[in-house]
Amino acid sequence: MARENPTLMICFVISTSVVVMVGSGLSTLTREGYRKLRHDRHGIRRIDLAEVQLASSETARIINRDIVLELIRASQPISRADLARRSGLGRSTVSQIVEQLIGEDWVREGAMGSLPRGRRPTMVGLNEDLVAIAVDIHPRQASVALVDLNGRLLSRSMAPLTSDPADSMRLVTDCMRRMQRAAPRKSIKGIGISLPGRVNPAKQRLIFAPNLKWPEFDIKKMVETEMGLPVMLENDATACLLAELTFARMDGIQDAVLVAVAEGVGTCVLANGQLLSGHNGMAGEFGHISVDPSGPRCGCGKNGCWELFSSSRAAQRYYRELRPKGPVVAFQELLNLAEEGDSAAAQALAKQAMWIGRGLRMIIASVSPSTILIAGDLTSAWHRFGPVIEKEVADLTLAGSSPVIRPSHEGEIARLRGAAALVFQRGARHTTSTPAATITKKSA
Ligand SMILES: [Zn+2]
Repeated sequence: MARENPTLMICFVISTSVVVMVGSGLSTLTREGYRKLRHDRHGIRRIDLAEVQLASSETARIINRDIVLELIRASQPISRADLARRSGLGRSTVSQIVEQLIGEDWVREGAMGSLPRGRRPTMVGLNEDLVAIAVDIHPRQASVALVDLNGRLLSRSMAPLTSDPADSMRLVTDCMRRMQRAAPRKSIKGIGISLPGRVNPAKQRLIFAPNLKWPEFDIKKMVETEMGLPVMLENDATACLLAELTFARMDGIQDAVLVAVAEGVGTCVLANGQLLSGHNGMAGEFGHISVDPSGPRCGCGKNGCWELFSSSRAAQRYYRELRPKGPVVAFQELLNLAEEGDSAAAQALAKQAMWIGRGLRMIIASVSPSTILIAGDLTSAWHRFGPVIEKEVADLTLAGSSPVIRPSHEGEIARLRGAAALVFQRGARHTTSTPAATITKKSA
């Protein structure tokens, strides 16, 4: 019977979005995605004999498990019967998967539900005691948070950073330990770290971070040794988009770009339902495409990169140019000054917005997203940025409608929730194979 064939079952998925690993990258699989996999006549599928991987029953089992876990997260508390109905999987398959998830502690049985005719199914929901430690690294400080499976921040703290990565990460792990001690009942599944740079997905090493300016250092190894937990690193823009895909629900969207605007400008591309990582994890470095070869020198060594005109630092520079004798202001202060009626602050932000819009044109021409999400502190002043960015983009749309441009739902906590999603998604996918249990904790 077709419904009992696991390779066919994945086509029956309804109203859910699952982010799973594909190779060393991440991919979202939605109902729309599965439909397109089968019916999309526009994409060209290439069989690469160097990378050929047959869809095994194991692959289907993992996908079905991710779907059930995602359905539980989206609709908890939910009964096994409803999971079977909503996933299209057979009841016995659902029961097996739920038992496995309970055994691995991802899911717990809760209260009894009520149904007509007196039947009372046992409902299942996520284990609220499972948490991840999420870290968001900026050039001068790091945010550290305890985040649960639903993306809730249970506690949060800041750690100052220095130019020395070993010292800096020691301050961060001290912060993690304090957090761990303050929540003894929580079971920590792993540590996700969002970085302002590119991470080689296979080696899990930071390979390009011009704003951080750290010398070569193995962050993953150091934190795993100190904390005795698996550590996953990811680029900050990717973490932001992952947070959107996981917690803000973007079902049906297959092509999107997230632009993270902070000290630099990072982007993450979702194309045909897959998060692009590219060779060495370097895909999406639009921030370092030169838009003015005679422009200022960038941390990457080139001149006039897009981020030098569109980052929060650029807005601060515009403000200094307009008020050379004024005080040096942080970006958040600049936003406040503009709201208080400071015309130079408003002009500086408008110029930054214009440059963000201009740069988006190259992104639109490259990957043609249906949705562009902007993340960063500037989203709190979207009434200033949104109209300027939209106008710049509309002025140069080549054909068809312009993409939807909107602020990231997640605001400043996007990177933290994305870093936690990294642990849960990769952890959920690799529970039986991650070397988490083999990491030996440094003697306490
Ligand atoms: Zn650059």
